[in-house]
Amino acid sequence: MKETIYTIPVNEAYDVKCECPLCLLEHRFEADRVNYYLGPSLMEPENRIETNKKGFCGKHFSMMYNTQTNRLGLGLIIDTYLQEQNEKLEKLFDDFDRVAGEKKSFFASFKGANAADDAASKISKHLDNHLEECCICKDLVYIMDRYVEIILHLFFSEEDFRKKFESGLGYCIPHLNMLIKGSEKHLGAGRRSEFLSSLFKLQRDNMQRIQEEVNWFTKKFDYRNNDAPWGNSKDSISRSIRKITGAKELE
Ligand SMILES: [Zn+2]
Ligand SMILES: [Zn+2]
Repeated sequence: MKETIYTIPVNEAYDVKCECPLCLLEHRFEADRVNYYLGPSLMEPENRIETNKKGFCGKHFSMMYNTQTNRLGLGLIIDTYLQEQNEKLEKLFDDFDRVAGEKKSFFASFKGANAADDAASKISKHLDNHLEECCICKDLVYIMDRYVEIILHLFFSEEDFRKKFESGLGYCIPHLNMLIKGSEKHLGAGRRSEFLSSLFKLQRDNMQRIQEEVNWFTKKFDYRNNDAPWGNSKDSISRSIRKITGAKELE
């Protein structure tokens, strides 16, 4: 197993007290890729072929935009991406127009209507497939699976890591699910149940903890609690949303 390139970031993420170390790993990877696509990748024709073909999902395009760094680079990516995508769409729209036009002809028939439906379905299918494509998401799925594999490996092989795991604050719900699925993929039955017992205990405690923090947040609005300390509740709204959804775009 090629451990080191994944082990180091995993250990670093688990050193941070946060609502979800997997969110941290994910975000670091995404930020890295965003900088790459806005920088070195621009000069590599092979990558431009890929970005023209696949583009980026809304989340990752937004991250690129929000860096506010290389507007020209982003413009170049979008310009050639749109040229290629428009060309594909034009052809599909032309196909639709052709059969839809036939439908209106003297020989209007069910056949014509069906052909127009088929052409529309083809466009929809093309869009479905295209919306699934994103240069960053594709790598993200792969890298997160590697990270999960390493977490499971370290859990059973390094006592220090296991302590960090067990004293953490749990995971956001999507990454909790990722760990459950990952344990099925990467562990045998015995180890899986040992790992899941530990994971679920951690998650149970921390779901309870965050709910109590939010509860105290709401109680602080009662004037009788004016002088009571905030405890950990002051930023509990953003942390709870992160916990529930894995959202990272919260200040
Ligand atoms: Zn997460
Ligand atoms: Zn994406």
